[in-house]
Amino acid sequence: MPDAEERSEGEGPFDRLIIRGVNMIDGTGSPLSGPVDIVIEGNRIASIQTVGWPGVPINENRRPEVGEEDKVIEAEGMYVLPGFFDMHAHTGGSSQGTWPEYVYKLWLAHGITTVREPGSGNGLQWTVRHKERSENNEITAPRKFAYITFGRGHDGPITTPEQARSWVRMIHEQGADGIKFFGARPDIFEAALDEANQLGLGSMAHHAQTRVVYANVLDTARMGLQGMTHWYGLPEALFTDRVIQDYPLDYNYMNEQHRFEEAGRLWKQAAEPGSERWYEVMDELLEFDFEINPTFTIYEASRDLMRGRRAEWHERYTIPSLWDFFQPDRRAHGSYWFDWGTEQEVAWKENYRLWMQFINEYKNRGGTVTVGSDAGFIYKLYGFAYIRELELLREAGFHPLEVFRSASLSAAEVLGVDHELGTIEVGKLADLILVEENPLKNMKVLYGTGAVRVDENNRPVRVGSIKYTIKDGIIYDAKQLLEDVEKMVRQVKEEDNYRITQPGLDY
Ligand SMILES: [Zn+2]
Repeated sequence: MPDAEERSEGEGPFDRLIIRGVNMIDGTGSPLSGPVDIVIEGNRIASIQTVGWPGVPINENRRPEVGEEDKVIEAEGMYVLPGFFDMHAHTGGSSQGTWPEYVYKLWLAHGITTVREPGSGNGLQWTVRHKERSENNEITAPRKFAYITFGRGHDGPITTPEQARSWVRMIHEQGADGIKFFGARPDIFEAALDEANQLGLGSMAHHAQTRVVYANVLDTARMGLQGMTHWYGLPEALFTDRVIQDYPLDYNYMNEQHRFEEAGRLWKQAAEPGSERWYEVMDELLEFDFEINPTFTIYEASRDLMRGRRAEWHERYTIPSLWDFFQPDRRAHGSYWFDWGTEQEVAWKENYRLWMQFINEYKNRGGTVTVGSDAGFIYKLYGFAYIRELELLREAGFHPLEVFRSASLSAAEVLGVDHELGTIEVGKLADLILVEENPLKNMKVLYGTGAVRVDENNRPVRVGSIKYTIKDGIIYDAKQLLEDVEKMVRQVKEEDNYRITQPGLDY
């Protein structure tokens, strides 16, 4: 994995930056309010002043004074939100052929100012170095939290609780923020979690089907796990008439059509919504204040393959090696389209309905739900996939204000940085998103490709796409970042005379 270039993008931070006349969605769940003038000194929000009422000229007397040296963004009619947290975000690597600048710019262009990187696939040292360089704003990148895969860097597999504990101490010393588990033998898992919790390390698990019989979500939550990503392990906790998923007898986990097709039938094997078991499990997870990071978006092609495959941004923003990686292939992870048809998609639609109902009820009853994309697999492109996840939470039943709270404040709480980030409040760091359209009314305005609208001349035009992403008081021109990405993609394509085509077709 190449390193990232020294930062050449972004303006600031400024002694004083004033965002004037903007409509504010502060991330707490409070309704939109504006117009306000937001004063940022260096990298911190110094004041937020209401300067009038909607529909009438701004009351100039209420405005903070603008000094000659001050940087001003005239943002009347615009909307400001706290920077987004992608709580399941991979920088990618050799299998996708991605490089940091490409991924970081797609993230920032979609308002993502913080990522939690589960697995930290390019290694802990690499990830911690990028975390530090981003913290110092030496590179154009979101803030990073490194959740290293359990056992990575250990000499051979971890086979005793003592080894688990010393491995946890080692990664803590090396600067990890947390651990990502796929499952482990219960005594080892428990020891690792106990050590992690004592040291204040975060923890999350993808309850892999190969280990879920050892411990489902309820078991791991009881052991002290802080949160789950994806959804495996949750239906298993809800089983009432089996302990193991109803695998067909010719199932092979390494055949990804088997793996993902049967996963699409899993929620149907769990206790029904509203049943006694449904609430028993939910109640206990609520007691633990357990984080659920569903990543609806990454499975979406399972219920609508053509939607994922034909997304309008691929032509312009998906690099050839990533497009190739997405194609049906028995050897690539997440490319399980060997014989994927109507039956599989219909089963997955039902799977989503049940899964979404659990997540929405969990949120309604006070549970912590965060937003993650897992982009870089299954036709999901960095940044774009995150905005789609916001839409899918909306589909699950979240009010848009609840979606944006999940995208910022809930994540900041999980990472233990809510005193610094996650909302637009005086004293907090200035990580902000500015967009010219109301994202509460239509989240599609947050996509880099914007939303379609017909103008006064009856012509379709694009509106929105984020205008500025501000991180640590530094203003990034989001549209320029996207143009940079477009240029990178064009260059690679020209070198290889490459064209995106559909599987099995030459066009
Ligand atoms: Zn992942």
